[in-house]
Amino acid sequence: MTKIGSLYEDTAAPAPTTVPLTGAQEADFVVIGAGYTGLSAAIHAAKRNVRTIVLEANEIGHGGSGRNHGHCVPVYGFINPEKAIEKLGTERGNRFTRILADSGDRVFSLIREYGIDCEAAPTGALQLAHSAQAMPKMERQHAFYERLGTNPVLLDRDQAIALTGSQSFHGGWMHTGGGHLNPLGYVRGLARAAMTEGAEVHTNSPVLSLERKNGGWLVTCPQGTVHAKRVGIATNAYTDGLLPPLGKSFFLMSSYAIASEPIDPALRETILPQNHNFGDTRPDVRYVRFDKQNRLIMGGLVEPTIGTNFDKTTAFIANRLKEMFPRIGKIKWRWHWSGRIAINMDRAPHLYNPAEGLFALVGYSGRGVPTATALGEVLGEAGCGMPTNELPMEISELKSLAAAPLLSIMVPRLRGPYNRLRARLE
Ligand SMILES: Cc1cc2nc3c(=O)[nH]c(=O)nc-3n(C[C@H](O)[C@H](O)[C@H](O)COP(=O)(O)OP(=O)(O)OC[C@H]3O[C@@H](n4cnc5c(N)ncnc54)[C@H](O)[C@@H]3O)c2cc1C
Repeated sequence: MTKIGSLYEDTAAPAPTTVPLTGAQEADFVVIGAGYTGLSAAIHAAKRNVRTIVLEANEIGHGGSGRNHGHCVPVYGFINPEKAIEKLGTERGNRFTRILADSGDRVFSLIREYGIDCEAAPTGALQLAHSAQAMPKMERQHAFYERLGTNPVLLDRDQAIALTGSQSFHGGWMHTGGGHLNPLGYVRGLARAAMTEGAEVHTNSPVLSLERKNGGWLVTCPQGTVHAKRVGIATNAYTDGLLPPLGKSFFLMSSYAIASEPIDPALRETILPQNHNFGDTRPDVRYVRFDKQNRLIMGGLVEPTIGTNFDKTTAFIANRLKEMFPRIGKIKWRWHWSGRIAINMDRAPHLYNPAEGLFALVGYSGRGVPTATALGEVLGEAGCGMPTNELPMEISELKSLAAAPLLSIMVPRLRGPYNRLRARLE
């Protein structure tokens, strides 16, 4: 197994036992990629008695799903109920909006349904204003999610201070459907759930080629093949050259995470005392949460030195923490890892159907815990054979984003300094 040095490799509940694909197999639906998207699709299809095989190049959760910050924040800039109805019609448009609006609840209901051991904390996710000027944005978001019926809670300054233990915030709101979890434990649990429903999951089985054959698809791995009616590609930021130009339809950035040794219990009681997770309105968002053993987990987007060099990264994060929690003292950081995120220009995931029976769902733009879980079920519906004009998601045209290579190089270099300057000027 390729180790990435994450906290979760040391703390997540074990993965189910899986082996590589061997021999010549038959299936209705092959899913490529064992992350949230692929496994959610597999659970959905297998539950409907569709013979489903998941093929993963590495181990379960090798991609973003096993290494993210663990925030389940079902807040998306791209939900627009009116636009969804305009594009998809009333019934499908409303379904699309509902899937996203309820995506946090979906994560925690799957965890309950399958008894997934992943430190699930359905506490609600805090969205906090870093300045007084940012409060109107928080109020607008709160009103929007209230209209969607997700029971958000508006927080004034005193409430934000009480819930975080920090004087830095001017208020905000809580998405009550959000929370946090151990992401590797969660994705391993989804794999177990897919297997319980009858899907096969094969690891160390990179798909090398896809060929149209006998009205279906021949999917080839190093030691075996599957002939299937339909294929769902769920490889997000870890997309290789299997289906050009899928890997060039978005641009890539890297996100890093660091985690500390458990902090002093008395100090812990003063920071996020009700075990919430939060993100704020700074352009360079600050994400903070604790795991079950009071380890502090933070991170952000990788810049030239931040997120790559352990000493520089921990010094940078220590400064941020001190600003927010002046009494925090010295934290012992132990884990430092990173991963890729796939960003579409509209920040929304896209579903593609470039050939009959072939689907791909990618481009979560760094917010996949609830999104990939919930929209993975749409990929599962496609895998069950639902006609594309009945799916609750638009089919996008698959094409290269010409600026992807340049954006992948330039944005990480310029983004951090630019965003910090913006935050100072606000
Ligand atoms: C450091 C970091 C922090 C993040 N923090 C958060 C967060 O706090 N909250 C949040 O909501 N989101 C977060 N994200 C984003 C989130 O992790 C992703 O959006 C989500 O995991 C995407 O899931 P997925 O199943 O689509 O893809 P992935 O989990 O990336 O899975 C894709 C899989 O496809 C496999 N694969 C690729 N090619 C092949 C092939 N040819 N054959 C077989 N298998 C193949 C890969 O090995 C991989 O396992 C973060 C991401 C990173 C990297």
